[in-house]
Amino acid sequence: MRRYLWQQAEGLRHAYDAHRTPLDLGVVFPALCGSVVTTGPEDMGKWLRPTCPSCDREIRAHLGLAECPPMPGHQQGRWR
Ligand SMILES: [Zn+2]
Repeated sequence: MRRYLWQQAEGLRHAYDAHRTPLDLGVVFPALCGSVVTTGPEDMGKWLRPTCPSCDREIRAHLGLAECPPMPGHQQGRWR
């Protein structure tokens, strides 16, 4: 069974394959959305960034979960 974790990077909270080594400051990693992102000092220890809508869609598809219903402030796959 595949496992996924979430990590903030470059302004969003992305999901990644948990079989990778634990992420630390400055690590470049491929997110489920296809972006290759780097963790910065502002991404460690705080979880204030919005969820990457593409990672959310991908992780739900991988795990067989229903799509997330539209939320206030979320339009056309982008957070405002
Ligand atoms: Zn993402």
